[in-house]
Amino acid sequence: MADERILVIEDEKKISEIIRSYLERDGFAVTVAGTGAEALHLLKDCYDLIILDLMLPDMDGESICSSLRGFSDIPLIMLTAKSSEEDRIKGLGLGADDYVVKPFSPRELVARVRAQLRRTKRGEKKVLSFNNGTLRIDTLCMAALKAGEPLSLTVTEFRILLLLAEKPRMVFSRLQIVNAVQGYDFEGYDRVIDAHIKNIRHKIEDNPQKPVFLKTVYGAGYKFIGTPD
Ligand code: CA
Repeated sequence: MADERILVIEDEKKISEIIRSYLERDGFAVTVAGTGAEALHLLKDCYDLIILDLMLPDMDGESICSSLRGFSDIPLIMLTAKSSEEDRIKGLGLGADDYVVKPFSPRELVARVRAQLRRTKRGEKKVLSFNNGTLRIDTLCMAALKAGEPLSLTVTEFRILLLLAEKPRMVFSRLQIVNAVQGYDFEGYDRVIDAHIKNIRHKIEDNPQKPVFLKTVYGAGYKFIGTPD
């Protein structure tokens, strides 16, 4: 099995190098991003856990965390000099799994990384697989594969597909879909959802006219009809 991959988002080189050396010594594969922009770019790849410094030169860690949580359940440990209870609660409210205050013990950080990874492994299925592996959805990496080939879905397309695939055969109305993936509705959302579904079908179906995964339920909405493996 490949090493577990950790993305460290931290602009202070001294700190990121200490974290890197401790994690690598423990067998992790470490990638460091020094800015928020670099981090968002690197997040297109798949990691097992993220360590996120809250104060970055170009953007604050909170906004990285909340945008990440829009599409991924990847374990995230916040690292910060902000130590007030309010800051910690805010961080956890944004979806951080744990919170480490600077200055910190690198060994304790590694222990917390291990604890988070154990939790993930015990948790829900990470990969959903349908129709004998024809379609696979990796919820941690936000990736979907068709016959083993990665599909280039947008974040919204991925979230719609996951929403439906998590509950096979359940009919979702367009309003339910827009609420679940955007968090609000807006004028014309039904046509927007139809357009997203059309795009997803073009990517996941052999014949979008005869879908075997995303079926239209006339007058009601859409449902996922793949067979779980
Ligand atoms: Ca910093």
